[in-house]
Amino acid sequence: MSIEQPINSVEFLIVGGGLIGLLTARILKDAGADVAVVEKGKIGKESSWAGGGIISPLYPWRYPDAVTRLALWGQERYPKFCEQLAAETGVDPEWRQSGLLMPNLPVDEQRSALEWAKQFGYPIESIDSHKLKMLEPHLKEQPSALWMESVGQIRNPRLVQALKRSLVESGVPLIEGFNVDEIIVANGRVQGVEAGGVRVSAKRVIVCSGAWSANVVRGLGVELPISPVKGQMLLFKATPGFLKRITLLEGHYLIPRRDGRILVGSTLENAGFNKEITASAKDELLGAVAELAPELTQFEIERQWSGLRPGSSNAGIPLVGSYGPEGLFVNSGHFRNGVVLGYASARLLADLVLGREPIMDPAPYSAG
Ligand SMILES: Cc1cc2nc3c(=O)[nH]c(=O)nc-3n(C[C@H](O)[C@H](O)[C@H](O)COP(=O)(O)OP(=O)(O)OC[C@H]3O[C@@H](n4cnc5c(N)ncnc54)[C@H](O)[C@@H]3O)c2cc1C
Repeated sequence: MSIEQPINSVEFLIVGGGLIGLLTARILKDAGADVAVVEKGKIGKESSWAGGGIISPLYPWRYPDAVTRLALWGQERYPKFCEQLAAETGVDPEWRQSGLLMPNLPVDEQRSALEWAKQFGYPIESIDSHKLKMLEPHLKEQPSALWMESVGQIRNPRLVQALKRSLVESGVPLIEGFNVDEIIVANGRVQGVEAGGVRVSAKRVIVCSGAWSANVVRGLGVELPISPVKGQMLLFKATPGFLKRITLLEGHYLIPRRDGRILVGSTLENAGFNKEITASAKDELLGAVAELAPELTQFEIERQWSGLRPGSSNAGIPLVGSYGPEGLFVNSGHFRNGVVLGYASARLLADLVLGREPIMDPAPYSAG
């Protein structure tokens, strides 16, 4: 492949133009840093495009505190950040509080959830079938539910679009079609990257390459516990207001958008880097619809798609910090929670590379 020399050198070079790379670039740029992003395909068209945009981990009490701390930091700041991005760029990421309903959880799970809520001061209410019916008349009858009213959602493609525009307007090079095939190291220090024989020098390289992150650093002898986990979604074209709240049952969820569209997600598949959509996934998701809101099937299915989550074997804790040779950093492995955790992990990574006081203890996210 021959590509043109995009830039010669930069201080911070981010490998991967998904949400994590773009958020990291934005925070570094806000701090006055010299930063560029290289992307093998098109900016924001992989997992960050495919995701549902729920601004909460699913069943948050099941995760380690290190995940909760990142989630809470981002949950508090996303509304203002999205407002700011919309004002700057004219692209509204459509953050809105739509709440999260979780019907029919076993009693011990409900207990764990309420204890978690008390510990972290995050409101969760237990509601009966009558209140559930009042809130969402089109849901199938369930004996009880947990209700997390504060949970928000955003539309991933819009968030990515807004970030992309803000970076371009502030002069950050976003270089597409640049597939990093080598990170160059000399005398134990990162020197830059190479793609198709074209070299860009950089003092620090930050790997935000999602499901591909392990491949990007493998040549350096660095092993990252990150691998792709495919997720498929269905999109129904329902009428606005048919469903107002995100609803989650046994790992599957419905996400209603403002325009009436409803996302049904998602599968968890170990299929390598194969992104093919399948009839069996469609059946699985329709099975979830039958359990959650069978009336939804009166509406047309507009689309089915898939994305590759950066799965990590680290209990859902992303890797954020310095890995391998001097000057090499990683911000990856967010698995099912890249949107909700990404804002805080980008800030934490920026604090670390800039030598600032970090927003939280970085130890749980480091190579250890
Ligand atoms: C179906 C589905 C539903 C989801 N729902 C939610 C949700 O509701 N809430 C939530 O918080 N999260 C959700 N997620 C997870 C979230 O989308 C991901 O964790 C997040 O998008 C990861 O972002 P990323 O930037 O690390 O990865 P990506 O968006 O995949 O970006 C990585 C980028 O790196 C590029 N790249 C890779 N290798 C190279 C290379 N060698 N050179 C240059 N570029 C390279 C890729 O092309 C890609 O664009 C969901 C994911 C899926 C698939």
